[in-house]
Amino acid sequence: MRRSRSFIPTTKEIPSDATLPSHQFLVRGGFINQQGAGLYNFMPLGKIVLEKIRRIVKEELDKAGCNEVQLSFITPLSLWDRSGRADTMGKEMLRIKDRHQNEFVLSPTNEEAMVELVKNRATSYKDLPLNLYQINTKFRDEARPRYGLLRGREFLMKDAYSFHASKEDMVREFDMMESTYKKIFTRLGLDFRVVQADSGAIGGDGSKEFHVLADSGEDTIVVCDSCEYGANIETIFETDEEIDALNEKSYEELQTKKIDEKCSCGGELSFKKGIEVGHIFQLGDTYSSALDAKFNDENGKPKAYEMATFGIGISRLVASVIEQNHDESGCIWTKSTAPYMVNIMISDIKKEAQVELAEELYSKLQDSNVEVILDDRKERFGFKMKDAELIGFPYTVIIGKELANGNVQIFDRKTKEKISVSVDDIYSKMMELI
Ligand code: ATP
Ligand code: MG
Repeated sequence: MRRSRSFIPTTKEIPSDATLPSHQFLVRGGFINQQGAGLYNFMPLGKIVLEKIRRIVKEELDKAGCNEVQLSFITPLSLWDRSGRADTMGKEMLRIKDRHQNEFVLSPTNEEAMVELVKNRATSYKDLPLNLYQINTKFRDEARPRYGLLRGREFLMKDAYSFHASKEDMVREFDMMESTYKKIFTRLGLDFRVVQADSGAIGGDGSKEFHVLADSGEDTIVVCDSCEYGANIETIFETDEEIDALNEKSYEELQTKKIDEKCSCGGELSFKKGIEVGHIFQLGDTYSSALDAKFNDENGKPKAYEMATFGIGISRLVASVIEQNHDESGCIWTKSTAPYMVNIMISDIKKEAQVELAEELYSKLQDSNVEVILDDRKERFGFKMKDAELIGFPYTVIIGKELANGNVQIFDRKTKEKISVSVDDIYSKMMELI
């Protein structure tokens, strides 16, 4: 991509309601723009990042044997009446009427619709297990949409639903999905914890959340410093007072709060702030029973499916990467989420030698399938550098004054270090770095 032809409207202006770095930098860097409360447009750079995350999630789920589908975003209210959730979902579920006065819902989640899809189609134990997923728009009329993509009203979610002949098989799938999620968040380059979550009536290991560690996270979690243990404070503290009070504390206050108890492994426990990016849940037969969704077991006896559900906040992840990886100048993308890996910067567009080398390197890297953008704009060097830091390309190759001595510089966005490399070595050096 040539920067002169691209639509990346960066700006110095900070939206008045943007308090978090991810919200500020994603808007300022030209990734997203706000259309209304909790409603965001993805501009070209934002769309690239979103697609990268979506692809990694899809690849790992497909490897794990899940089947991708796409359900209608609008679902009939009658479906929610039958499961009983029409009464319990509250105002977060937005209802609409068509011209014939039929009532519909903008899907906040899709358990009901997915059960309807499988019901009467997977009719025998031999058709099970099944795991179906979609990466699709959700709408929740959140009371307080805020923090940009972290809490939108319209957002992109990966939601998977599995169907089983027995509880044991459902638990097997649940554990397998936990490892799949770990692979996904590791590939995204995130520092995350799997925590026990409040699973209400189900209890035990029935519900786990995946939290990206970030000081600005809305959730408070307890983690062990020597083993993998983690828990949402909702599972540890008894009363909604206690829990709200901890959630309201900032990361710094929280660090002064000591936990006397030790982890069962003997390690020290401490409070951390996290952003919930994934949630896996053992549902049992709650929905299948309510919707009369049955299969015939080995003895030919009809039985409700055992189910589990698995969510990932795809658009929330875009912001989570930045909450965890940024500095005062802007975004620092991880290698697997960066919109472009290499930014080639022509310092002075009037210098023919600079343009020539930049064009040559640009086509060579493109031919090697490197995601590369060429900053060929007629702008000042300082302005272009600030822009590159704000957007957060992992590497910028600066073709400037040093070219007279046969050198160019590589700027590493994360460390902000510049190294000089000879013109002859720049291609191989870049290939080595990425
Ligand atoms: P939260 O507690 O943050 O409101 P939730 O527990 O209601 O989330 P789930 O129903 O578990 O969310 O949905 C699965 C995933 O979808 C969540 O783990 C989260 O990553 C994402 N998600 C939920 N609500 C939003 C939202 N308003 N904006 C963006 N992503 C969201
Ligand atoms: Mg959740």
